[in-house]
Amino acid sequence: MTFLNIADVTKRFDTSTVVDDFSLAVERGEFISFLGPSGCGKTTMLRMIAGFESPSSGRIAIDGEDITALQANRRRIGMVFQSYALFPNLSVGENIAFGLQVAGRAKSEIAGRVEEMLALIKLPHLVDRYPYQLSGGQQQRVALARALAPQPRVLLLDEPLSALDAKIRLSLREEIRQLQRELGITTVFVTHDQEEALSISDRIVVMNGGRIEQCGTPFEIYNHPATRFVADFIGTLSLIEGVSNGDRSVCVDGHIIELEQPLNVEKGRPVTMAIRPESIKLEASPDRTNRLEGRIEDVQFLGSIVRLRLVVAGTTVLADTFNRPTVPPPEPGKTVTLHVNPRDIIPIDAPAED
Ligand code: ATP
Repeated sequence: MTFLNIADVTKRFDTSTVVDDFSLAVERGEFISFLGPSGCGKTTMLRMIAGFESPSSGRIAIDGEDITALQANRRRIGMVFQSYALFPNLSVGENIAFGLQVAGRAKSEIAGRVEEMLALIKLPHLVDRYPYQLSGGQQQRVALARALAPQPRVLLLDEPLSALDAKIRLSLREEIRQLQRELGITTVFVTHDQEEALSISDRIVVMNGGRIEQCGTPFEIYNHPATRFVADFIGTLSLIEGVSNGDRSVCVDGHIIELEQPLNVEKGRPVTMAIRPESIKLEASPDRTNRLEGRIEDVQFLGSIVRLRLVVAGTTVLADTFNRPTVPPPEPGKTVTLHVNPRDIIPIDAPAED
């Protein structure tokens, strides 16, 4: 059942449209990410859910209640910002208690709830500290506890990990997800980091220029990007240009590449195929089709993976092979035969005509 419903929301600032006809139905307990490049409207959409901005048109509802015109402080929504935004003159305990005091809750209830929240974020020993006495990661956990203390209906997270260093970012990301699952709270998370979105979300909304490019599970978004923008934005991939042979076959530099799905491109017209580095195999294949020749330009040892940069049909293509301790990686300069399985080729829209 839909819990948070965003229907046809548009936001204009003066003459520019920053969120354009955005519609999304979020289930109760779902973890949704808004993902996209800087300026695509993620934060503006989040701020409209929070009530800090009003839509120019469209409606937003939570649990069947239309909240489009409701004041921010009456929406029962918790929000965490990139910059922590803790009250510097209040202790950790007082920061967490703040929302409960504003809501006029009884003193005994507030004390119990603060204790519960401190246990949840595993910082009970820091109750009397002030924000300046905490690390960035600790401050963000307190900000999370402060947002969750009044038992909001929806939790909004605006790039909450961006200001933290890599190691803390990773551990806090896991903590947030675990906590969200435990509480079953409907959550919207804004990020421009595709790896973050892929690892944490039930569904990802990929945004570009204020519009939704694609909405789907991390698996769907990664494996079946709907547009060239999504294909480019999510993960690493190589684009190989070819010419349609009609139906489900493409010619690349004299080699026949077969696809799983029939092409919607006339014979003789150009076709672009996107291929992930992990989908290119260096082993000889029994198939006569789906072979390509590539010259190794560079070999990067990444630990569990060895990434090859090759030139295939005049284009740079990346191919990942697993590290095997007894097999030395191939040498640059060597020409190798590559194989791509038809089901691993993502045909994307043909390049625009001049
Ligand atoms: P970032 O990741 O950089 O925060 P974003 O995807 O969250 O980007 P928004 O912050 O939503 O993008 O901004 C979208 C566009 O709207 C930007 O071009 C921004 O300059 C513009 N914008 C945001 N707030 C206002 C405002 N109050 N008045 C005018 N323009 C605004």
